[in-house]
Amino acid sequence: MTAAAAKSSLERLHGVGHALAERFHALDIDSPAALARVLPRDYKDWRTPVRIAEIVRDAIARHGAAESADSEETIAVGELTNAREIRARVAIVTGDLTDGSGRLKLTWFGRRGLKLNAGDRLFVHGRAQVKFVRGAPTVELNVLQHKVLEPEEAYRGAVVPVYRASKDLPSRTIAKVIDTNLEELVPYVRPLVPEALATSRGFGDLLEAWRRVHRPASPEEAVAARERLIYEEFFGIALRATYERARRRAAGGAPALTADANLLAAFEDALGFRFTNAQRRAIHEIYGDMAHDAPMNRLLQGDVGSGKTLVAASAVLLAARAGFQSALMAPTEILASQHAAKLAPLLLPFGIRTEALFGSLGARDRERVRGRLESGEAELVVGTHALIEDDVVFKRLGLAIVDEQHRFGVRQRAKLRSKSRAPHTLYMTATPIPRTLAQTKYADLDLTTIDELPPGRTPIETFVLRESRKSLAYAFVRKNVAQGRQAYVVVPAIDESEDARSSAVAELELLRRDVFPTLRVGLLHGRLTPREKDAAMSSFARGEIDVLLATTVVEVGVDVPNASVMLILDADRFGLAQLHQLRGRVGRGVARSYCILIAPDGRDGIRRLDVLAATTDGFAIAEEDLKLRSEGDLTGSAQAGLTTLIGDIGRDFAIYAMAKADAESLIAADAGLRLEAHGALRRFVDDDAPDASIFLSS
Ligand code: ADP
Ligand code: MG
Repeated sequence: MTAAAAKSSLERLHGVGHALAERFHALDIDSPAALARVLPRDYKDWRTPVRIAEIVRDAIARHGAAESADSEETIAVGELTNAREIRARVAIVTGDLTDGSGRLKLTWFGRRGLKLNAGDRLFVHGRAQVKFVRGAPTVELNVLQHKVLEPEEAYRGAVVPVYRASKDLPSRTIAKVIDTNLEELVPYVRPLVPEALATSRGFGDLLEAWRRVHRPASPEEAVAARERLIYEEFFGIALRATYERARRRAAGGAPALTADANLLAAFEDALGFRFTNAQRRAIHEIYGDMAHDAPMNRLLQGDVGSGKTLVAASAVLLAARAGFQSALMAPTEILASQHAAKLAPLLLPFGIRTEALFGSLGARDRERVRGRLESGEAELVVGTHALIEDDVVFKRLGLAIVDEQHRFGVRQRAKLRSKSRAPHTLYMTATPIPRTLAQTKYADLDLTTIDELPPGRTPIETFVLRESRKSLAYAFVRKNVAQGRQAYVVVPAIDESEDARSSAVAELELLRRDVFPTLRVGLLHGRLTPREKDAAMSSFARGEIDVLLATTVVEVGVDVPNASVMLILDADRFGLAQLHQLRGRVGRGVARSYCILIAPDGRDGIRRLDVLAATTDGFAIAEEDLKLRSEGDLTGSAQAGLTTLIGDIGRDFAIYAMAKADAESLIAADAGLRLEAHGALRRFVDDDAPDASIFLSS
């Protein structure tokens, strides 16, 4: 890197020096292009001053809600009834402001010699905070800016954008930089939607909308401008997916596989139970795809234990009947070996020979498996990433299955598919994805949902306990272990460095020494080597460990039927969907199973956890999670993710539907995007950066 390059390109902007550029870097904004992708997350309507009574009321209400006791910026105009400077280590100036509706205490910190007089007409901008004075809540404004207004001077306000900020880089600093450099930033915004299309939807110019999003004249204008941007963004997503789908369909090249009607019936007879209706529907959809020479590209989602593996097995059966091999890739060795152990005996009666391929396999075994895949002697291979090594060659791979697909990268999934010209591909996930989200995030996949569990499961009982009653939960674990069961204890972090109340390292000490001195406590977390992880998991599976202390690495697919208690510490630190996944680790055997969520004392977070206690429906939980998360965004839990989607698929689904219809009609008219007018679109879809921001170039 040259010396010139070391200087942040952000410093080219007006008003941005080295120190400020550094603070932008901390939020991952390191270039004007990146800054051009930053959009307000909210607005404050400061066209007219906020009434003091309202400021007071809102601050107290916010304080009561306590989800975010953070102070909120606001403005007021009123008469200063008194002002005095307190000489402390830092200068503090205090005063009182009235506007007829109420009274507000003002404080300025570190501002010596302020020229303020009782009777001044004052504009103030600051943070409203609730302080308790002799038990009674009073609202105090910590002043950030003020201006003494002339007697006749009108306050001239605006709609102020609020950007996602950090402690070191407040929203108003971001606003200032963007506002000052608005025209310098415009060239980084690259329109994608053809103008005629946008116009036909009643949308105006993208660049103008981008300017207005930062500088709206009214909240209504901000909303309209934002919708224009969302439409642009969603169009990009939909276009990529539609284009891919059309290309896949047109290319064909996959084996068209059909089975005689008896095949599935025979498989079901051999299983000894009936498929659920949901499984039957899933198999039907998959068989429908595989009957065509366009490669299947389907996502099969279903809660843990909903029977996805058997659906996948049915697809393997179909492929094998027609003389094609299948490969099933799972993210960990333990998951892969569980699959192999389950599938091999089910499929063998149908003449399907299963092999397992792991990284830990000895050279000789590996050679043997490799040989059988190459010769076609094995019809199914189950394995880990070891499957995508270059020297793994198939004779006739017809079906690629990826379990827990989100655990693999785009490249890894593509690598598996590349083991044959155009295999049918089935992705599986136990993380329920809300329908709306699935349509955008996985827009180029067809979606099948198993929304029904096999009969006869006892639902897991879920309780929320406060931190101060944690010992009850430990006693409950002891009791279950005494009855011959096992338990998981899950913590949010590996060690203290992660700013969590409970961590694996600290908790291990505690559990072994004080809480469960007579039990066998094992440890599993993400910083162990794959081999150590497998060892910990396997000894838990063999019953050599009573209590497995773990981070979320136990989240995925591990099956220990004897485990009956899932105890989650600091449960408020996890997302709902994640908690639901963790809960799915128990209740897999005959024993009655329990999930205990420990939440901090105090009112925070409990309500959210109650959702889990109330339902075991993964989709309901996922929808709720999505809703809570987008609400969280609007109320501004300061997260760094500034380049994520602007559109909220739940809230803005109507715009997505519109963008999708437009992308589809465009592709219907020009599937290959070969028209000269579509050159930019073509470059966009060919650009292999699916997660990059959609309409803004970097
Ligand atoms: P998933 O992969 O979705 O987590 P599995 O396919 O592993 O679920 O199935 C979980 C358990 O339920 C397995 O033991 C499986 O044999 C059993 N199972 C699957 N489908 C049915 C069914 N229709 N009826 C009864 N048991 C089933
Ligand atoms: Mg599974």
